[in-house]
Amino acid sequence: MAYIEPAPIKDKANPFDSMMSRFIIAAEALGLDEQIFNVLKSPSKQVSVSLPITMDDGTIQVFEGHRVIHSNILGPSKGGVRYAMDVHLDEVKALAAWMTWKCAVVDIPYGGAKGGIKCDPRSMSAGEMERLTRAYTQAMLGVFGPDRDIPAPDMGTGPREMAWMMDEYSRAHGTTVNAVVTGKPLVLGGSLGRAEATGRGVMVTALAAMEKSQINPYHASVAVQGFGNVGSFAALLLEERGSSILAVSDISGAYYNEKGINIHEAIEYRNGNNGTLEGYKGAEKMDDAKDLLFLEVDVLVPAAVEDVINLKNVDKIKAKVIVEGANGPTSAEADKVINEKGILVAPDILANAGGVTVSYFEWVQNRLGYKWTRERVNRRSDRIMKDAFDKVYETSIKHKCPLRIAAYIVAIDKVAETYKFRGGF
Ligand code: NAD
Repeated sequence: MAYIEPAPIKDKANPFDSMMSRFIIAAEALGLDEQIFNVLKSPSKQVSVSLPITMDDGTIQVFEGHRVIHSNILGPSKGGVRYAMDVHLDEVKALAAWMTWKCAVVDIPYGGAKGGIKCDPRSMSAGEMERLTRAYTQAMLGVFGPDRDIPAPDMGTGPREMAWMMDEYSRAHGTTVNAVVTGKPLVLGGSLGRAEATGRGVMVTALAAMEKSQINPYHASVAVQGFGNVGSFAALLLEERGSSILAVSDISGAYYNEKGINIHEAIEYRNGNNGTLEGYKGAEKMDDAKDLLFLEVDVLVPAAVEDVINLKNVDKIKAKVIVEGANGPTSAEADKVINEKGILVAPDILANAGGVTVSYFEWVQNRLGYKWTRERVNRRSDRIMKDAFDKVYETSIKHKCPLRIAAYIVAIDKVAETYKFRGGF
């Protein structure tokens, strides 16, 4: 069949090309109908808006905002809103498609979407951020909705922005609609367990991957790149299950302790130190932070940014298992080398899906008008993550392919099956 060719390799991987090259391999392995392929390769809706905002100094600045809905065939679309200077439509499109695959892999009834505003949140006051967030919500009133499209936090946004979005949407509808966004503060209908959900899912996936690789978690060594929401909870929960976290890193550098870092202590230090590990004394600072990736550990968890494992450095990776906490930490071109080296990679669309799973639970609780206990949230999300891992693993055996392609196969198959039943073209 006439699939489009993956784009040529460039210096920095274009996230849309990276997503497409995996999608194409999985679609071919699955024998995906060409017509369905054509439907899924493009987003179903893209909305771009200009948002004029009065800044604190009285000037008016115009910001560019986007919302891309890749697919809503499985249910209302779901995906975060990113505030960053490098937001561009190609990236938002890739992230929206990733959300479709992620929701399908963990079998929750959502499609995929993503949003973004090109801005520098660190240089803006709370008032400017609020005006921008409310303007974006106003511009997206026809897109968002608890049964249509449900935003969530992403880089540069958090519970505060979600509260403004929920409030602005609710005002426009004359009633409180808390199910329109997830990742809200607890008092507005946020879910217990949401803060640690992604890191917890990484832990569950890491344990499942270790079991398949005959690694005993009690004797396992782990390195975690990124010590934010995902990385620090993943490290803490793996340490609680007996693994030794030999190294962690953040934007200030990488820190190594051959006896294992006390993660609880490191988190306390970070919390009292402007959010970074700079100056942390419980481990030695490594000369080059990137060397964390090349440590001889059982499990490597990249949980910071995209494209950190790439063709230039993949040869140096010595970990037996990689569990992708971040979105897109491995470039598509590095996949082949990783597979040749026999490293088991639990891919992002599987490993970091714990966050969207508990977002789904938040939405369910909002719609029920009821609150679940943390235990119920954790138990149900652990089950979903483990079932998803098992399904992806079985698919990788059946199709003789790596877990990444297997995860895409599981996801694409579910979406394609749904199209077959719903039809309507
Ligand atoms: P965060 O902002 O809380 O933390 C990011 C961490 O990475 C910080 O410690 C930062 O200092 C560090 N960092 C940044 N650049 C780095 C670099 N070059 N080297 C080492 N460390 C670096 O972000 P987060 O929510 O933990 O998200 C991390 C990744 O996980 C992102 O790719 C995000 O898209 C993905 N993700 C997050 C969630 C979630 O629920 N938070 C869900 C799915 C995927």
